[in-house]
Amino acid sequence: MSVGRVVFIGAGPGAADLITLRGARVLAQADVVLFDALTDPALREFAPHAAWVHVGKRGFADSTAQATINALLVRHARAAGLVVRLKGGDPSVFGRLEEELEALDRAGIESDVVPGVTAALAAAAQTRRPLTRRGTGRSVALTTAMTREGTLRGAHSADTEVFYMAGKQLAALARRLRAAGWDADTPVSVVSRAGWPDALTSTHRLATLGQASVLHAGRPTVVTVGAGAAAVQTLSRARTESPLLEAGQEQEKTLSA
Ligand code: SAH
Repeated sequence: MSVGRVVFIGAGPGAADLITLRGARVLAQADVVLFDALTDPALREFAPHAAWVHVGKRGFADSTAQATINALLVRHARAAGLVVRLKGGDPSVFGRLEEELEALDRAGIESDVVPGVTAALAAAAQTRRPLTRRGTGRSVALTTAMTREGTLRGAHSADTEVFYMAGKQLAALARRLRAAGWDADTPVSVVSRAGWPDALTSTHRLATLGQASVLHAGRPTVVTVGAGAAAVQTLSRARTESPLLEAGQEQEKTLSA
């Protein structure tokens, strides 16, 4: 009996054109696609003849839901040639990839992973706020605000810390972050549906982060705290201070024209 193979593909954070070229090419060869709630329906155009199976779950999946997905993966891989497991963002970041890889290994099914653009990177691009900064932002942490038990945690483990799955409880997150040692004045950038045409962004100080709750309610949201949340130098200041930067800006215009 010939057994199929599974490729995990990162769909990127939003609009279908943020998938990688490799991801799109593998997707085009899929017989079956198991996909999440957060992936763009327009991605279907890359594999119109494949069977698309929705296995999406929002927020915190319980172990039964995950076990069902694991079993589905194994079953489809045994029946079909190429099974694509399409995940939002990057499969290796808060994507429950570990459990699915283990399930395939246990069943003796081969698998590969194609990376994608994770939400933290899409948010940085959306806001033009680089996650690393020369001198002040040497480290970046990707952190989930929720523990396994569903309680909220703050942390201060890097110059820039990006919190996933924190959208619902921004005021509480701000309190936890203050307790973890972040200053009340720390810049915070909040982005929901980064990479989608209807993305929303807002900037705050840690002390007033709670105000972002209403704006981003009910939308997938990342919260960037620290060095990488600060705005870059404005163009007018850059112009007067650095002729080199001005040349860079001109070049950028030409490229995008
Ligand atoms: N594997 C995904 C993360 C899955 S966990 C990745 O690499 O991006 C789900 C969390 O990701 C959401 O609660 C939210 O915090 C974040 N997220 C996913 N897509 C997002 C988007 N387009 N904009 C902002 N946050 C997003």
